[in-house]
Amino acid sequence: MGGEMTRCLNCGAERQDEVCQACGLEPAAAELALRRKLLNRTGLFLLGAIAFVTASGRYPPLELDRILIFIGVLFWFTLSLAMWLERRALRHAEVEPLKRLYYGLIPVPWLLAGLLLLNGALDRAPFSEVRSYVVGKFAMYGPVPNRRLIVKSWRDGQTFERIDVDRIDFNQFSDGDSIDIKVKYGLVGIPWIAGVTRK
Ligand SMILES: [Zn+2]
Repeated sequence: MGGEMTRCLNCGAERQDEVCQACGLEPAAAELALRRKLLNRTGLFLLGAIAFVTASGRYPPLELDRILIFIGVLFWFTLSLAMWLERRALRHAEVEPLKRLYYGLIPVPWLLAGLLLLNGALDRAPFSEVRSYVVGKFAMYGPVPNRRLIVKSWRDGQTFERIDVDRIDFNQFSDGDSIDIKVKYGLVGIPWIAGVTRK
């Protein structure tokens, strides 16, 4: 076996013998145990991503598209890390630092989903209504449809806002229409859209 393998793939303990002193598994069994754990955590992570997308539709943040890009990058990074880990485990190479990083990323979509729900559901402050007009709209269909009204921004340093709306609101607005937008500031300071009405 040589001296290159220093830690048990299953429990991470230093290994002197064939069989790990800490968990009692030999290398092939430890590899299998690690791969099973990786699969379970990956499942948990994917569920978290679904929970996040659901939460973001319930109380859509004003910066929804930027947040979705961030989640997308995190998603591919985490899955690439999982594949890299699996490949290293197959070669029985050192996995401890990568494993710790990977396990640390698993709860992130769940935490962000919880944060968005908390931000919207417990936001008891009254909304403020801003008036703007529609300059464009676009929709993306698929398992998670995305519909946005692009409106002239009311904020300093922003030209446009992309407002997440449902199918009914999406269909009733056309370019140039006046629109009233109910903006809430959010319990944890993430502004979100409580609704739109047509003038
Ligand atoms: Zn072990």
